[in-house]
Amino acid sequence: LIEIKDLRKKYIMGEMEVEALRGVNLNISTNEFVSIMGPSGSGKSTLMNILGCLDTPSSGQYLFDSIDISSRTDDELSEIRNQKIGFIFQTFNLLPKLDALQNVELPLIYSGVEKHLRKDLAKKALKRLGLENRMNHKPNELSGGQRQRVAIARALVTNPGIILADEPTGNLDTKTGFEIMEIFKELHQEGNTIILITHEPEIAEQADRGIIIRDGLITKDALNTTIISPNKTILTQV
Ligand code: ATP
Ligand code: MG
Repeated sequence: LIEIKDLRKKYIMGEMEVEALRGVNLNISTNEFVSIMGPSGSGKSTLMNILGCLDTPSSGQYLFDSIDISSRTDDELSEIRNQKIGFIFQTFNLLPKLDALQNVELPLIYSGVEKHLRKDLAKKALKRLGLENRMNHKPNELSGGQRQRVAIARALVTNPGIILADEPTGNLDTKTGFEIMEIFKELHQEGNTIILITHEPEIAEQADRGIIIRDGLITKDALNTTIISPNKTILTQV
């Protein structure tokens, strides 16, 4: 699904140049559940933005679904984004003036779905996230966990197949964060590919594969193996 070779990203700001990614190699297959950890400023969001076709690399190769992303126009990239990728952010990124239903409808408007279908699909997505009684609430009338569930409904409503989440539990308390992780696990079991950035090891270890990025390079990429210790407690190694 994702094939990346020697990917580099430079930000140029006046005289200053920051090389946020310095030669990343990464392959992710359909239906993997991957976490990405790393210190602040290590390049996680930069990588996520490129993975999600929100930004393009300075050099290197990125094949998404066998499509060479670097040779595509902005219009083609936004089409790929709208059809195949669902985004979830730490700060939810809901539009404050729209209610839950209208927020979830937005991606369907972008991808040109007919009006009468849109409401049905949006309602279905909210229902599945347990928000059938909150459809007409504005974001500021919802709890943090509910806001994130609206954001997940919005990411899912187009049935994208791949979900990119940048610190989705970062603004939530521990219990709510784990509830959100349960939703991701369910989506993974249904066949979605999940890529999740987090600062929290307890969150990262719930993915099947853990990547660590430091100073713009991947320094660790390993499967999270569950070991049953002799006294039958389950230890997870990240
Ligand atoms: P955090 O954990 O704090 O979210 P991160 O790992 O997501 O950090 P990035 O946002 O990818 O880090 O940033 C990597 C580096 O690139 C940082 O040094 C940052 O200052 C720089 N950077 C990121 N975005 C831009 C931008 N739009 N313009 C200039 N420099 C940027
Ligand atoms: Mg970040």
